[in-house]
This record gives sequence, structure tokens and C-alpha cells, in this order.
Amino acid sequence: MNKFEHSQKLFHEAQHYLPGGVDSPVRAFKAVGGTPPFIVRGQGSRIYDEDGNEFIDYVGSWGPLILGHSRPRVVDALKQAIERGTSFGAPTQLETTLARKICSAMPAIEMLRFVNSGTEATMTALRLARAFTGRDKIIKFAGGYHGHADGLLAKGGSGLATLGIPDSPGVPLSYAQNTLVAPYNNAEAVEQLFQRYPGEIAAVIVEPVAANMGVVSPQPGFLTSLRRLSSEFGALLIFDEVITGFRVAYGGAQALYGIAPDLTCLGKIIGGGLPVGAYGGRREIMEMMAPAGPVYQAGTLSGNPLAMTAGIETLKVLSQPGVYHQLEKRASSLAKGIAEAASKAGISLRVARVASLLTVFFTGQPVVDYESAKQAETTLFGRFFQQLLSQGIYWPPSQFEAAFISLAHSDEDIQLTIRAIDKALSFLKSKGLGHS
Ligand SMILES: *Cc1c(COP(=O)(O)O)cnc(C)c1O
Repeated sequence: MNKFEHSQKLFHEAQHYLPGGVDSPVRAFKAVGGTPPFIVRGQGSRIYDEDGNEFIDYVGSWGPLILGHSRPRVVDALKQAIERGTSFGAPTQLETTLARKICSAMPAIEMLRFVNSGTEATMTALRLARAFTGRDKIIKFAGGYHGHADGLLAKGGSGLATLGIPDSPGVPLSYAQNTLVAPYNNAEAVEQLFQRYPGEIAAVIVEPVAANMGVVSPQPGFLTSLRRLSSEFGALLIFDEVITGFRVAYGGAQALYGIAPDLTCLGKIIGGGLPVGAYGGRREIMEMMAPAGPVYQAGTLSGNPLAMTAGIETLKVLSQPGVYHQLEKRASSLAKGIAEAASKAGISLRVARVASLLTVFFTGQPVVDYESAKQAETTLFGRFFQQLLSQGIYWPPSQFEAAFISLAHSDEDIQLTIRAIDKALSFLKSKGLGHS
């Protein structure tokens, strides 16, 4: 019997009602081929599909599930919260509790506003930056993804990189014209843009560790230069820490690299697996938001009590001593195991890793920006992915997405994964692929 029979049937049905059968493009497996397994349940490091297959999960809902699936402490808190009501459209103490935790983890955030997605967070952070500076243009980086708001879809990485959509139809040219794009890790290009458009640039928005063109770490001095240039030219520096916040360190990339941005965008982990986003920063800037100030932004479900509850419980676990050390240990042994398996098989690849974010790039060259990331052999990646899936490893279904290691991944999970990767790479080699 076919291993994915039920999922195939469900995927077929889904395509009748949902464009491409999914609610977010990368889930459709277009970049790697085959049918996406339809998931019924997750527990710890594992997910289970409609055909009864079990997988070790390295997607973790694309980052939020740093504790793994269905952590009992989070589930219990959610059960209690749901009994009290799912949404009020009125203030709750939970919002202040989670806000306080975030502000104390990230001192550059003096105040923040909760929204329902990372997209809303970046979209509003830019509106706020424009209002604060009285300028229209922004700088982003090629391969940087900041959600799907109009004007941020220029050279957007991951889903867009995967599908090869250079820009999205439906975005007015006038929006895109205010978006200036520089290569990642290239502070000189940023300086040139500031010089070409004096007094016009409101903000530089950056993923402090790029994680939507595969994982690309900031080169020494890059973030420091962005901080200096932004201040010098009167623009705000916005760190999009939707992935990196509470991921690369409890205090995010700003703690890891010791840089204070003017505004920070968050999402994913701070909602513990429920829909959430947040943006925050210096008090004088944040107080421009309505109702304290004139910049408008609202949300029917913003600060939702269930999302706040899952976020609070997740941060409680993450603030315990030793947590990030454990993530680092597991992730580094996975990275080491992959590199060893590759050199044993004689396959040319690069393991890029920052903390518990990891990408296997099928290229022999260093990856420092979007151009070099695009040199990776996506067909080879697809074969690699299928080999892992058939061995019960659910790797991200795109060359340009990060794999996420969680606290639920045990040493044994990591060893099982390394063995599967070893087998996958030997198989590719036996087919004459991936020559060094
Ligand atoms: C996921 C992500 C977003 C968008 O968040 P959504 O909740 O999917 O809207 C924005 N920025 C970065 C860096 C992300 O990884």
C-alpha cells in the first residue's frame, strides 16, 4: 500500500477548495515534489499523519514550537484559559504579563503592541517608522522575508525564492518604489543608498540572522554598521526578530550580537504555537501609536488570551537555566553529524547554523547573501528531502527554509536523524549526484 494514500486523497480534495490545496504556499511541497502529509497530531519531537506515518519534525510549525509539540504545561494552561473564554475585545492582565517578560528579555523594547501575525508586526513597524521620521522610503535586503505586506514583497526569500516569483502581481508599483533593496551582509550598499536618497529613508529593516533564504549569519561588523548608518542618516533600525526572537538566545539576536535596534518585530515563539505578532521599541516612538498617539493600528483578536497564555508558558520554560545550552548542544551535534556524513559520502554541501537554526546548502561555495544562496542545487535538495521523508524525517520542504531544533529533540532523535542523513547522502552519491 502507498505510504501516503490518505494524504493524497485529502490533498486532492483540498485543491478543490483552497488555492493549491493549502493556506500558505510552502506547505504544498512544490519545491520538492510529492504530496504533503496531512498531519493529525504532534507530540514532543514527533508528528503523525493521516496514513499513520510518524516523523521526527524539523519544521516545528516554522519556528514557534521551540518546546516541541503539545508540551503538557502549555496544553494545561491553554485548557484552563479556554474555559474562561476565547476572546473579549477588552484588556486582560495576560497582555501586560507577556509584555513585561518580553521587555525584560529585550531592553531595547520599552513598550510594545501585540498583533496577530509577523506580517502585521512588520507592516505596522514600518508605518510607525515613516510617521516618526516623516520619510517614505525603506531599505530591506534581498532574500529577507518580512511577511507578505505590499511593499515588502520585493526579493522576499523562502516562499518567493522557492516559487521563483520575483515580485508579486497586485502590488502597486508606487509601493514597491519606496522599497530599496540591498544585498545582505553588504553595509557599503546600504551607505550608498543613504547617500543617493538623503533625508528620504525612514528605516532599515533586517533579519539580524537571515533565515528565509536558508540560514545566513550576519558577518562580523554588518549589524554594527547598520546601527551606525541608521543613526547617522536619521533612519530607524528595525530588527525583524520574528524567527530569531527567543530562538538564537532568550534576548534574541539583539542580545547575541549586542545591538540595540530602534524597533523590534516579534512573532512565532512568543505565541507558543498560536497566532501572534508584536512590535515594540523606544517609548518615544511607540507612544505615537493610537490611542496614545496619532498612528492608527487595531485588531479584533489582538492580544488574544489564548495566544498570550501559550506565549507566557513558553517563555517561562525558555527562561530556565540551561535551556539554550541544551539547544546549542543538540543543534551542534546535528550539524557535525551532517558534515561528517557529507565528507564520508563525498558530497559537496555547506551546513549553515546559528544556534538552533540550521540549513544544509547543496553548494560548495560559502553562502553570504541571496545571490550565493541561489547557487545551491535545489534539485539535489529535493532528492535529499524525499530520502529523509521516506525514512521518517520531516525536513523543511525547501532549500531556502531553516530547520528548527527544539527542546523536545532528544539525543536519540539527533542520532536517528544523522543516520538517516548519512543514508540519504550515500544514496545520492550512489546515483552519481553531488560531486565535490
Ligand atoms: C515568519 C516571518 C514573518 C511573518 O510572520 P507571519 O506570522 O507568517 O505573518 C516575518 N518576518 C520573518 C523574519 C519571519 O520569519
